[in-house]
Amino acid sequence: MQKTVLFIEGDGIGAEVTRAAQPIINKAVEKAYGKERALEWKELLAGEKAFKETGEYLPQSTLDALRGAELAMKGPLTTPVGKGFRSLNVTMRQTLDLYACIRPIRYFDGIMSPVKRPDLVDMIVFRENTEDVYAGIEYASGTPEARKIIEFFRDQLGVNVDLSAGVGLKPMTPAGSKRLVRKALQHAVAQGKSSVTLVHKGNIMKYTEGGFREWGYEVARDEFADQFVTEKDSAGVTGKIVVKDRIADAMFQEVLIRPEQYSVIATTNLNGDYISDALAAQVGGLGLAPGVNMSDTLAFYEATHGTAPTIAGQDKANPGSLILCGAMLLDHIGWHEAAALIHNAMNKVISDKTVTVDLATQMEGARTVGTTEFGDLLGA
Ligand code: NAD
Repeated sequence: MQKTVLFIEGDGIGAEVTRAAQPIINKAVEKAYGKERALEWKELLAGEKAFKETGEYLPQSTLDALRGAELAMKGPLTTPVGKGFRSLNVTMRQTLDLYACIRPIRYFDGIMSPVKRPDLVDMIVFRENTEDVYAGIEYASGTPEARKIIEFFRDQLGVNVDLSAGVGLKPMTPAGSKRLVRKALQHAVAQGKSSVTLVHKGNIMKYTEGGFREWGYEVARDEFADQFVTEKDSAGVTGKIVVKDRIADAMFQEVLIRPEQYSVIATTNLNGDYISDALAAQVGGLGLAPGVNMSDTLAFYEATHGTAPTIAGQDKANPGSLILCGAMLLDHIGWHEAAALIHNAMNKVISDKTVTVDLATQMEGARTVGTTEFGDLLGA
């Protein structure tokens, strides 16, 4: 059996981590299944490489190919600084309706962590990926659009806003929130997880963040009636998923102090952006944090770190994020034996303390190796 994976190499350290990750993922498949199964990698152009070859950062052909695909993977892409340039990542998420950003956070033995019991950290964040302030509906201070909106609010609704304000919209819909929470609940059911926590700022933004909380409970009630229990009714109940909610600022404290009480987290776009990076920092940083953006048809795995321009081309980058993306992909298609081989290899190399510089600085007595050697050790 062969599965096709489209890939975008990425900018900066992207090519290095992609080149390190693919052979390791291939090797795990071969070790697990011999010649019976294989991944076929097909490159798509995006970012600086695409610009050099086609004059466009995100060619239509790339979007078309992704639209018809089941599996894809990408290295990080630079967002060129300049007015009017939209992040390629955000554009792809919006265009392909990749509405769920899913990031597991798991501890590898031996890494220094800012939390007391990092071995208890085992969470997965489901972040809504297309709505919220990331919808990109904003107008600069002093523009006719911003003034018009403020005048409408002032004159029609009696709201007192300074005319010089920049203006942004935070659109959040019941449908958009519900499909994300549904995915989180489905994951909890399939994986036998103990809880799903809805994270929001509904105390301040009642109709957007508060809406998310309300719609989240609605999905649980309407679609998972037999499988969940609310936190307040959960005393003495076993075998059900506890659905609870936390206000985002309190949640940041909770995951540091009581990580063992949280398992699946479902949250809005901006909260999810912050909390997934903060959680990654508990378990070794972005170099070891995999992620996937999902639509109803496409699972698009991506390194969660950026292009790290200051270390690009120096054989210093940690390819761990993309390699663990590979393990997620293999689990997603049911090739669990191959995924387990990647996790085992990662466990072994990290516990042997032979790691890239980003991890070596977080481990006592570690030996620093380059991207290539780290990859070789993992693939051995
Ligand atoms: P960054 O993640 O590139 O770098 C932050 C820090 O982490 C730097 O010190 C960097 O050296 C280090 N780092 C990151 N990945 C590493 C790895 N794999 N191994 C070792 N060290 C690593 O974030 P940034 O500096 O804010 O952004 C740089 C560029 O990346 C920007 O153009 C930004 O738009 C882009 N970016 C892209 C994505 C994406 O494509 N998903 C995500 C974040 C940032």
